[in-house]
Formats: sequence, structure tokens, C-alpha cells
Amino acid sequence: MDCPRCSGVEMNEVLLEQDALVRICEECSSLWIDTADLTRMLVHHNLPSIDALGGRENLEEAAGTCPEDMTDLTVIESAQNDGLAFAMCELCGGLWLSRNAEGKEFLGKKPEEIVEELLAFFGAFAAPWRARV
Ligand SMILES: [Zn+2]
Ligand SMILES: [Zn+2]
Repeated sequence: MDCPRCSGVEMNEVLLEQDALVRICEECSSLWIDTADLTRMLVHHNLPSIDALGGRENLEEAAGTCPEDMTDLTVIESAQNDGLAFAMCELCGGLWLSRNAEGKEFLGKKPEEIVEELLAFFGAFAAPWRARV
């Protein structure tokens, strides 16, 4: 599967815990994951599912097209944490993340480090949700 940003660059597959598969682009270091896989991981670590994160859509910002089905990706921003955003394909549920919570890259990380980065990112994204619990 090609990177949504770097056309013609195939993403590398990395298998994480609980059979969650991520794809990482060697060119721009962004990460692609299926929402179902990600939600399973988040819920396992007591974080909200993607549906319950409570972000807001930014329809002004173009994030490219889904490499699977060529649908335009929708940018979802955190309502509370400035600068945290991801893009999602509403057709296939693919989710695309270009940087982790600290703005660092995913490239060259071990699978368990990628899990940590994902949990940190969506934990920060979901901070208001967490405060309600
Ligand atoms: Zn790329
Ligand atoms: Zn798609």
C-alpha cells in the first residue's frame, strides 16, 4: 500500500500487539492503521475508542486521498489539544497519522515503542474524555 502523501512509495508493514498492523512510510515517516485495530488497542489500554474521542472535523484542510479507495481523507483535530490531528478515511476506516504527540516521527521505532507513541497521542487527544471518567 502506498503512502497517502508520497505517491508511489510503498509503506512498510509492522505488526504490533494484538495483531494490530501498522504501515509506516520510509519517506515521510507517517503511519497508517485500521481504525478497528487501533480501537482494540486503545480500549485495551483504557482509552476511548476512535468514535468516542470527540475531535472535530477540519474540512478546510486537505489531507490527501486514501491509498486503498481514493476517497478524500477527513482531518480530525483535537478540541482541547492544539496541534493534535489525524486524518481518516470514512469509507474503509483507515487512519493516518503524520507525527506523534511530540511532533516526532514513527520511523525506526520498535513495535512496542510505536504502541507507546499511539497511546500517548490518543491519550493526549482524548484528555477531556479522560477528565470526565
Ligand atoms: Zn510518505
Ligand atoms: Zn479508504
